[in-house]
Parts: sequence; structure tokens; C-alpha cells
Amino acid sequence: LDDLIDLDDLARRLDHEHVFHSWSAQAQSPQLVVASGRGSRVWDHSGREYLDFSSQLVNVNIGHQHPAVVSAIREQAELLTTIAPSTVNLARGEAAKRIVDRAPDGFRRVFFTNGGADANENAIRMARLHTGRDKVLSTYRSYHGNTGAAVVSTGDWRRIPNEFARGHVHFFGPYLYRSEFWATTPEQESERALQHLRRVIEAEGPSSIAAVLLESIPGTAGILLPPPGYLAGVRELCDRHGILLILDEVMAGFGRTGRWFAFDGYDVRPDLITFAKGVNSGYIPAGGVIISDPVAETFDERVFPGGLTYSGHPLAMASIVATLDAMASEGIVENARAIGETAIGPALAGLAEKHDVIGEVRGEGVFWAMELVADRETREPLAAAAMGRLKGAMVERGLLPFVQDNRIHVVPPCVVTADEVAEAVAVYDEVLSTVGEN
Ligand code: PLP
Repeated sequence: LDDLIDLDDLARRLDHEHVFHSWSAQAQSPQLVVASGRGSRVWDHSGREYLDFSSQLVNVNIGHQHPAVVSAIREQAELLTTIAPSTVNLARGEAAKRIVDRAPDGFRRVFFTNGGADANENAIRMARLHTGRDKVLSTYRSYHGNTGAAVVSTGDWRRIPNEFARGHVHFFGPYLYRSEFWATTPEQESERALQHLRRVIEAEGPSSIAAVLLESIPGTAGILLPPPGYLAGVRELCDRHGILLILDEVMAGFGRTGRWFAFDGYDVRPDLITFAKGVNSGYIPAGGVIISDPVAETFDERVFPGGLTYSGHPLAMASIVATLDAMASEGIVENARAIGETAIGPALAGLAEKHDVIGEVRGEGVFWAMELVADRETREPLAAAAMGRLKGAMVERGLLPFVQDNRIHVVPPCVVTADEVAEAVAVYDEVLSTVGEN
């Protein structure tokens, strides 16, 4: 029957007629069909292969269809597919234990959610209830998810049509390549960004601020590695004023940087950690908040006014346990680090030497960005039309890229091999050579 019906065509027709897509004008339907996957590769129904250097939405850290995770989901499905959050379930406890074991000392509890947005939503609620304060400070260059407080905490354009929650204030974080602070060195950028935040806190009234919410490394905004001393400086400002620090590790966490948490590479300890994506590579929707003891203790005798039908869903929990075990036993986080240092970093530096259109390359692990510019001197971003052509050319050559604004994010699964990196880099090289031809 499969020979008689073109399944790719059928999938497209059903999608275009009946599916309403995220963040899109619906007349512009997606064309790419993905039917199956394995490791760093996916296929459509006709067998056309793509190398996935997007990890979808930067979430498939363990690669597609890891057999141990698929088996764990299958086994859990045979045993119990769903259960109310108010019950005790072994898979839930096992998942929580594995997560807190990766967190710093003083984190013993996890509140499970369905994804990253509701993780941030609940972390913000905890911070407000714990401090008795209202405002949440976050950066303009950020994405924190698509629910009430999370989308208004978000800095990018997605906040603006959705600004219906109160108590949110934005500030500029460090980004040396496009400094808001006229800085020319990482040290200057760090110091001036901290001075700016200090002034925002003072002007907003420190005693009205519940939390500063930051992506440890802003991801969608451009993989903006914080300069030396910045995160420690934010921690210091928070401590001075009794403000909680929430670090959003939804994209950067669970191996992407070559560390379990991105903030492990910096001298900082948050009060709340939010996660999703890489914790189980999205095989079943899941996320959560890792809660430091003082915040958790606030709710020892006082009711936490929040919950979800699927908080700690058994299929999600079984997939977390299997994912974290496989990542540890197969050295997947170490692979991400080594591949970043020995393959991706040097290869992208090579591309930057060859192609003037690359203004900057930055990143670590399997979390990199190539910033494309029309002019290296002025740093004018490469135009959207040119970015669209590059994206089309990469997909045509069998590479799934992650293209955001004027950047190509190089974000393969943590299991990617050096040969796969070379394959992707050859495609980047070829398509970057065509810039300016149109
Ligand atoms: N936080 C960060 C840093 C993210 O990158 C994302 C999603 O891209 C989210 C939160 C929202 O996660 P979700 O889409 O699972 O709600």
C-alpha cells in the first residue's frame, strides 16, 4: 500500500488542511516531512535522509530514537501509562533523584511540569510566594516560553503581542559583539552590564523585586556566553537585595555545553533551576523546577498553589531515568565537550577565516552560533532574504540547520561524531560560498 500512496504527499496534505502551527502565519505551511530518525539523522517516508544539526528545537541531546530510552518508554507503557500527581510513583522518585544528583548541594526537590514554559511559570510563582515580592527582571535577549509570565519574561518579539501579565521588567545582558555598553573587552562588557543591572534594580525598587530570571547562556537569542564575572556579579546583586536568582537551563542544560548544567562552568549558584528539553531529549514532553532547600521549605507547611494533571507523568519519568543513565554510562556529555573542542570549534574558526560573511563564531560543546553579516566593519546583520536562501540551500543538500535571525546555530545532538561534523561543515562551506551571488 505504501508503494501506491505517496506518504510524504499525504502527510503534507493532511498537515496543510488541518494542523495549526506555532509562531506562523498559517498560509505558509511547512514542507519538510520527517517520518523517522536515528542518532543525528532523520528520514522522510520516501527515505530521503537529513543530517540534523538543529536537534529539532535544540532538544534532542541524546540523538533520535536512542534504543535504551525507547525501551524504557515501552516497558513503562506496559506497566502503567498514567497516574495522578498526588500518588507516589517509583519512576517519578527515580527521575527526581537523578536530577538533584546533578544539581549543586542544597537542592533536594523537583517540581515536574510538561515543558520549559510552565517550568519558568512555576519558578516565578515560587519566587513571588517565597519573597512576598512581585517583580521579575529578565533580559531583552531571551526566550522563556509561551505561557502567561514566561512569555512576558521573554525579551524577544514573541513577548510583545502577548504582554498581558504584570510585574515584569527587562534589562540588557552582556553581548560583546553587539554591546549596548560601548564595551570593547569581555571584562568591560561584564562590568558595565552589571552596572546597568544595578541601576535597573535601584530604579525599580529592590524590595519590590522577587527574582532575576536568566538563561545561563541565552540560546535562541544567539548563544551568548556570559563574560567573566557576570553571573557571579548578578548573584552578588541578588544577595545584596534579597532577590532570588532563577537560572533557565531549558536549552543549555543536560549536556549541550559539554557539562550537565551550563552554569557549572561559572562561579554561580542559583536559587531555582528550570529545565526541560535535554532532560529526556523531548521523547515525552517534560520539564521542571529544581528547588533549593530554603525555597522548598517555604512550602513545608504552606500549600503550594500550583499543579498539573501530568506533573511527573510515568512515561516522561521513565524516559528521564533512561536518558540520564544512558548519558552517564555512554559518556555523552563528555562527547559533547570533546566534539566542541576538537571538531566544531576549529572547523567553524576555519570557515570564519574563509568567509567574510561570518562576523563572529562563538560557543562550546554542541552549542555554537555563526553570526552572519553584510559587512564585517559595520556588523550589519545579513538580510532575512539571504538567510532564507541559505536555509533552503542547506535543506536541499540534506542538512537540517537551525537558522535564527542572522545566525546559523550549530546545535547537533550531543552524540554527534567528528565525521558528521565534517559532513555538515562541508555543507556550510558550500552554501556560504554562494552568499552575494544573488
Ligand atoms: N526556556 C528556554 C531557554 C527555551 O529555549 C525554551 C524553548 O525553546 C523555553 C524556555 C520554553 O520551553 P517549552 O517550549 O518546552 O515550553
